[in-house]
Amino acid sequence: MMDQPENEDAVDQNLDDRLCLNCGFPNRNSDTHCMFCRTSLVEATGLVSWMRQAYYVLKWRWQLKQKRAGKKPAERMPFLRGVGYFLLGALLSGAGLYAFSAALDTSSFSKVLIAVLLLLYGGFILKNLIAKN
Ligand SMILES: [Zn+2]
Repeated sequence: MMDQPENEDAVDQNLDDRLCLNCGFPNRNSDTHCMFCRTSLVEATGLVSWMRQAYYVLKWRWQLKQKRAGKKPAERMPFLRGVGYFLLGALLSGAGLYAFSAALDTSSFSKVLIAVLLLLYGGFILKNLIAKN
């Protein structure tokens, strides 16, 4: 934790170096308050300011964690399940069509029945999927 550097070159290199501990906004090193949330950026020494900074860092991390934990799994799971149902429905429909064409060649009633059931079940899954979305 150095104090203000003496020469100007060092100041230029440290532009945009001071991240706000409250909101993460990158501020110029010369700023005393955050441009975004007006929180004081002055690094005072002492236990009180140390605890305040620790509190801000913890709060910031917790908010990041909440954002990550809150949104993504909730959005991803129904999407994957939808893809799974779609593949299942397409597979059953495809198997039904294949069985149907095979059944027509052999003119077997039981095979036609299986093909119709496969087609109905696959179509039912696909219809439910489209209706939900
Ligand atoms: Zn801020």
